[in-house]
Amino acid sequence: MILRMPDYCSDFRCTADKCTDNCCIGWEIDIDDKTLSHYLSVKGDFGRRLKENINFGETSSFKLLKNDRCPFLNDRNLCDIFTELGEEHLCQICTDHPRYFEWFKGVKEGGTGLGCEESARIIITQDKKFSFTETVIPDDDCEDYSDALYDFLYKAREIIITYLQDRNLSVDERIADVLSYAEELQYRSDNGEYEPFKIERDRDRKLPDEEKLLSFFSELEPLDPKRPEYLKHCLSLTDDVKKNRNAFRNAVPDMERYLENIAVYFIWRYFMKGVFSEEFYSYVFFMAAGVSGIRYLCECFYLENGTLTVKDVIRIAKEYSKETEYSDDNVNAVLDLAYNI
Ligand code: SF4
Repeated sequence: MILRMPDYCSDFRCTADKCTDNCCIGWEIDIDDKTLSHYLSVKGDFGRRLKENINFGETSSFKLLKNDRCPFLNDRNLCDIFTELGEEHLCQICTDHPRYFEWFKGVKEGGTGLGCEESARIIITQDKKFSFTETVIPDDDCEDYSDALYDFLYKAREIIITYLQDRNLSVDERIADVLSYAEELQYRSDNGEYEPFKIERDRDRKLPDEEKLLSFFSELEPLDPKRPEYLKHCLSLTDDVKKNRNAFRNAVPDMERYLENIAVYFIWRYFMKGVFSEEFYSYVFFMAAGVSGIRYLCECFYLENGTLTVKDVIRIAKEYSKETEYSDDNVNAVLDLAYNI
């Protein structure tokens, strides 16, 4: 079996105590069965501490402390399980994070997610064309799907990623064209046509309406309780954001590159999932919604602060990712929106 990962993943190293965020705070961390049985076998004081800090159930998880901290995250924001038992005894979620994976026939694809500060920095600041590496790994199973559809989507993803990196057009133009292309792809595949075809310019295509998007995002189940209120505040700035758009473009010339990298990330991560559901237009919409939402929030930040650094863009994209990508309900709500906006 082949493991296929974007080249930039090899640059990822967790910044641990230097991270301004922490992925061991703010959400429940489930413990897989293999790791759980090892934790139960650990003797002495640390074994006792492990048992006292686990909520046992059908899926066991760590008992979170005040502020939703993992009980094994120490004062220096380092993991005591890592120190006491070694990296090989972290549970699967902690071992993988921020990596994500998808299993196909003979291929496991993955990457590092936008919800981690360091990974977001690497993704957003790329200045090379997107490329990936393949390595051989032990075989693993996957759900069944149509091979013809897989080949069709695989080729289409390559065409989309190349198009999204064509700097002769603005990012908005590229995304608009890709949305129209995805609609046609969906139509053809629904009719059993799997011949690859090129993306055409579509000057009439509009991106999802930002006000509708923001209002929709403000209704999603939040991770940060202050999020809905903040998004509503940003929504109230729409007129000023629009008036300020040219000044923003001039002030943050690298924004197009950042958004291009984010668009490619979303397509790489989600588009091939369509092989299982045979529905993939909504994953392209998911990319368009993500890029529009992140840009709008960056524009609001610039409007209110008179500046926007790359660190701000990374933080805004990471927060968007955590709020949206790390909740299956929220991901599904955005996918449903593709046909209801
Ligand atoms: S968010 Fe990323 S960089 Fe920060 S602690 Fe987690 S894995 Fe490390």
